[in-house]
Amino acid sequence: MNDQLERQLKEAEHSPRVYFDHAATTAPCPEVLDVVTKMLKHVFGNPSSFYKEGHKASYMLEDARSKIASLLDVRSDEIFFTSCGTESDNWALKGMAFANASKGRHIITSKIEHHAVLHSAEALEKRGYEVTYLNVDRFGLIDPDDVEKSIRKDTILVSIMTANNEIGTIEPIGEIGAICREHRVPFHSDGVQALGAIPIRPRELNCDMMSFSGHKLYAPKGVGVLYKRKGLHLANFMDGGAQEGGRRAGTENVAYAVGFAKALELAVKSLEGEAKRQTRLRDRLIDGIIQRVPHTKLNGHPTKRLPNNVNVSFEFIEGESILLLLDALGFSCSSGSACTSSSLDPSHVLLGIGMPAEIAHGSLRVTLGRSSTDEEVDRFLDVIPLVVERLRVMSPLWEDYQQGSLAAIIPEEGGKDVPIIGGYDFS
Ligand code: PLP
Repeated sequence: MNDQLERQLKEAEHSPRVYFDHAATTAPCPEVLDVVTKMLKHVFGNPSSFYKEGHKASYMLEDARSKIASLLDVRSDEIFFTSCGTESDNWALKGMAFANASKGRHIITSKIEHHAVLHSAEALEKRGYEVTYLNVDRFGLIDPDDVEKSIRKDTILVSIMTANNEIGTIEPIGEIGAICREHRVPFHSDGVQALGAIPIRPRELNCDMMSFSGHKLYAPKGVGVLYKRKGLHLANFMDGGAQEGGRRAGTENVAYAVGFAKALELAVKSLEGEAKRQTRLRDRLIDGIIQRVPHTKLNGHPTKRLPNNVNVSFEFIEGESILLLLDALGFSCSSGSACTSSSLDPSHVLLGIGMPAEIAHGSLRVTLGRSSTDEEVDRFLDVIPLVVERLRVMSPLWEDYQQGSLAAIIPEEGGKDVPIIGGYDFS
């Protein structure tokens, strides 16, 4: 086994790298690079200027807005360009809270949201708002009944993500949105990981606001979108000029807005085929890992999950060391979200699904993309048992388990839906 790993490490020096972290970011695709470069070269005007260069930039910006609107089946004046998904989330939560402070100060969200939502909610708590953080089940699913039960007279916003960035679970947001509508409570959903991966039409999903980000969609970093239903009052988040209909100040990043529109057009066009293709690769990875590596379980829902997401826990070892060894073998993966990968705290999402901290530490996220192939999956399945075995041999926990002084939390045969001993306390 050791010889085999040494051979793989040597081979990796001469093999192409495998990028398996598409949930962290995607490389801008050639078509997007082409339109963005052309825009930067030829359309430099400020869209607010009253002369030809400005008019041209303004035309391109509005054209991008209307293309995005049409792909999402909403109105153009419901699309606002921002700098990233984080800004869209901050704006949705804080803008709603500030605009409605006199009506109420209660917000509902979940324990497994991205930090852009969670930390915005926490910032609002410091300003006197009250936040209910809903539990999720062991697959990461939110129960729409829990949302309904938590709605109060002073609830001014519900924010539940469309799909989770770590474990890929797709939430029942259409149902949650319908409940919010019935109770006349605005509903925001963070759709950053979902856009381009599953069909997204904010109106059909009963969403009043949705956040999106360009760099998860093969567009550059530095551009985001907030969909806001017309008529919904949202306080401005950026003060300054009268850009974006006077709602989001700051000279627009016209080239990247055009890039976003192109990226969305391509994503929508290839969605069905890519979703099928990536789901097949995803399931090959999940089944292959669980079959080849004992004491391993899948995190997230077995079927209600993003086509590109694999998240597994390997008992007795640390996620960080798996990443380092995989990196040396030519694979770029993640132990959780890119935003928390520099922290050694166990992921709030894995703790949120009831996973004991010691198991949460040994987790690995592999996220596929358009460039992912069967050959890459084969290469990964060849090396992962070697990686885990090497790390387990060095692990004191593994030694204790082998000697019978420590019980396993994940059964040896592992699986997609295995009970975890000591987990799932949702109180
Ligand atoms: N929301 C989710 C679900 C995400 O996955 C991310 C990024 O990982 C964000 C928000 C933040 O987006 P951005 O990196 O554009 O700020």
